[in-house]
Amino acid sequence: MNPTQEASIDALKGQRIGVLGYGSQGRAHALNLRDSGLDVRVGLRPGGATATQARADGFAVAAPAEVVGGSDLVAVLTPDMVQPQLYREAIAPHLRKGGALLFAHGLNVHYGMIDPRADIDVILVAPKGPGALVRREYERGAGVPCLFAVQQDASGHARARVLAYAAGIGGARTQLIETSFREETETDLFGEQAVLCGGATELVVQGFETLVEAGYQPEVAYYECMHELKLIVDLLYEGGLAQMHKYVSETAQYGDLTRGPRVINAETRQRMREVLTEIQDGRFAREWVAEYAAGNPHYKALKQRDLEHPIEKVGAALRAQMGWLQAPKATVKGAAV
Ligand code: NAD
Ligand code: MG
Ligand code: MG
Ligand code: MG
Ligand code: MG
Repeated sequence: MNPTQEASIDALKGQRIGVLGYGSQGRAHALNLRDSGLDVRVGLRPGGATATQARADGFAVAAPAEVVGGSDLVAVLTPDMVQPQLYREAIAPHLRKGGALLFAHGLNVHYGMIDPRADIDVILVAPKGPGALVRREYERGAGVPCLFAVQQDASGHARARVLAYAAGIGGARTQLIETSFREETETDLFGEQAVLCGGATELVVQGFETLVEAGYQPEVAYYECMHELKLIVDLLYEGGLAQMHKYVSETAQYGDLTRGPRVINAETRQRMREVLTEIQDGRFAREWVAEYAAGNPHYKALKQRDLEHPIEKVGAALRAQMGWLQAPKATVKGAAV
């Protein structure tokens, strides 16, 4: 049987699930698991904004250590960089023998920032979409495809548990794909760096700058290079390259096929390989851990530079007039990958 059909929430029925963190993924997982009939508590530092949100959503909220102590399965859904300390202080001393530790991204385990106790299950369910989508799809009876993995099976039930969790958040309504912590971590990092976040935004911004420096109106450049990307992405999502070709003009197709490979070329491919190598050999992870430990000076400065870019000013002004745009809740915080 393939895992999508094999998945059933039975292995988690009657078990207590502790969700640590109530942000993009945490809120979606907690709500979906509860709506699937499972017993969920939320662990957060007292007094935070998301603790208020979790209580408003009807969850019992307690400090992480307390929630861990009362749980059979603990889902670690805080930001990646706070997880090692959380593991040392609130999880390792309190998780029961034979309990399960679940991640939505394998970074800390794969690069050894967390070295889980030998007597617990270590599992992964990584939805291939932002938390808001994980919730929205669930609410309409669907789901978001998930990767899943078992790193350590101490209880003998790790696979049943990980599949049950994936079913509980709605992933088994679509597609579950088995992977390893290594594959999930390295491909997720590569995707967000080279293609989704890093690559796509750089393409948009450089296209915008090229038009503006050549004297075209920023408003026109914005529509061409950022706004219209959605149409193309939606077509790719629905039906791949073929669907995209079906809906754009022949002129656009000819331009695509002849000019695209000049913009994204063999040199770009070489840069992509370098980025992948830094992920594989741990250089990216070490750099990010050091940056975080130093208080994120470089990260904050780069982010500020992005926010001050002219495309953000013209974009904000244009979007303010787009009455047809839904409140962009799903795409603000946590639309990350
Ligand atoms: P987030 O930043 O949206 O949420 C963080 C939550 O953790 C908040 O509730 C915050 O109050 C809480 N928190 C922060 N520090 C804490 C601490 N010390 N103790 C307890 N709670 C603390 O996080 P996210 O983007 O949902 O990411 C969670 C995990 O999911 C990460 O491993 C991430 O890689 C993975 N992931 C995220 C997405 C996504 O769409 N954002 C997609 C797939 C996987
Ligand atoms: Mg960028
Ligand atoms: Mg056009
Ligand atoms: Mg991702
Ligand atoms: Mg990611």
